[in-house]
Amino acid sequence: MIIKPRIKGFICTTSHPDGCARDVQQQIDYVTGQGAIEGGPKRVLVIGASGGYGLASRITAAFGCGASTIGVFFERPAIRNRTASPGWYKTCAFTEKATQQGNYAKNINGDAFSDEVKQATVKLIKDDLGQIDMVIYSVAAPARQLSDGSIVKSTLKPIGEPFDGYTIDFKSGELRSVSLEPANAEEVADTIKVMGGEDWELWINALLEANVLADGCITTNYTYLGSEVTWPIYYHGTIGKAKEDLDRARTALQGPMDKVNGAAHVVVMKGLLTQAASAIPGMAVYLSLLFKAMKEAGTHEGCIEQTTRLFSTQLFSPGELREDDEKRIRMDDLELAPEIQAYVKENWTSVTNETLGTLTDFAGYRQAFLEMYGFGFDGVDYDVDVESVKEMDLVFGS
Ligand code: NAD
Repeated sequence: MIIKPRIKGFICTTSHPDGCARDVQQQIDYVTGQGAIEGGPKRVLVIGASGGYGLASRITAAFGCGASTIGVFFERPAIRNRTASPGWYKTCAFTEKATQQGNYAKNINGDAFSDEVKQATVKLIKDDLGQIDMVIYSVAAPARQLSDGSIVKSTLKPIGEPFDGYTIDFKSGELRSVSLEPANAEEVADTIKVMGGEDWELWINALLEANVLADGCITTNYTYLGSEVTWPIYYHGTIGKAKEDLDRARTALQGPMDKVNGAAHVVVMKGLLTQAASAIPGMAVYLSLLFKAMKEAGTHEGCIEQTTRLFSTQLFSPGELREDDEKRIRMDDLELAPEIQAYVKENWTSVTNETLGTLTDFAGYRQAFLEMYGFGFDGVDYDVDVESVKEMDLVFGS
């Protein structure tokens, strides 16, 4: 099948297996180019392992620390004329490369919120690895099925005040205005249920109960605070409330983690284009401005640079953690540098269809969007017929 990008609004409905494999290879090359991370974990569980920050964390663990990894994710294989989701292809590529290197890598495709997936993961750890040294929780989900079968959805809305802003249509490259009414109390509660810390706690408690967390085990969960210009839709919005709940969960988890001399960390990562982030209204303009400022300053990072720097300079480095008053590890230091934020704030209200190409790095942002789905890579021939079906050996799921 010849696979081309098919873009609808902020998503692409196709993905390219060779381009996704290229993306993974580039991330592996970056990590190996940085050298081995001394003292890193050797057995790592990544929940939300197939895209964005979770995949990058898994690559850093496997190729920077030589870790055995178990990945849990929710991805779609190819069927008939439909390509697989990018996370499926990327996990196939990761597993192949890790295995070739002699690293254990096994996969579970299913709903991380379910008890079934938690128990399948516990069994796999017991059968194969005995215990785990690090648990990375990196799920970004639009909805959660509760144990009674009901489904709660997360929403991306402001709280208290309406939000008026812009998003960028990837296909036309034009700004589109977005107006959102404030969320009601139920929407806030539901977003916390999906994206807050409860499921992280359920995972860690299930793993502790099964005695599969090793002495000194650490667990991380990623959060975002961002710039004042995005606070109305992000930090002060429904998703921000869910992220606040991670801080609560971290505190609640510290006691249980003490039992294994371990630690729970919330880590503030920088804003980047991932599948989850592309859905947030207003973020496209912010990230395009941010990319421009950070690239010009030479401080731009992608997911893999962030996770590798997190491992090598914070989590597995002898120095002090760069924590804030809420005990969150700050990896958004370069994003929030005063000169970067000054550029963003100065130009925030001047971005129009006419200035998009000069004030912002929309071209780079769009390129990152295409690459997320495996398109736009040099050296990949997109006119060649490729096999869209890639088999993956799964321990659980299909
Ligand atoms: P992403 O969309 O790239 O990846 C999400 C992952 O979650 C995928 O592996 C997906 O398969 C998995 N997933 C979704 N629903 C699932 C389910 N029901 N069961 C199992 N797996 C499921 O997202 P991302 O941007 O990498 O987000 C990961 C975390 O990082 C989130 O907590 C997000 O808020 C946080 N974060 C993101 C940014 C950013 O700018 N992208 C910045 C800071 C923090």
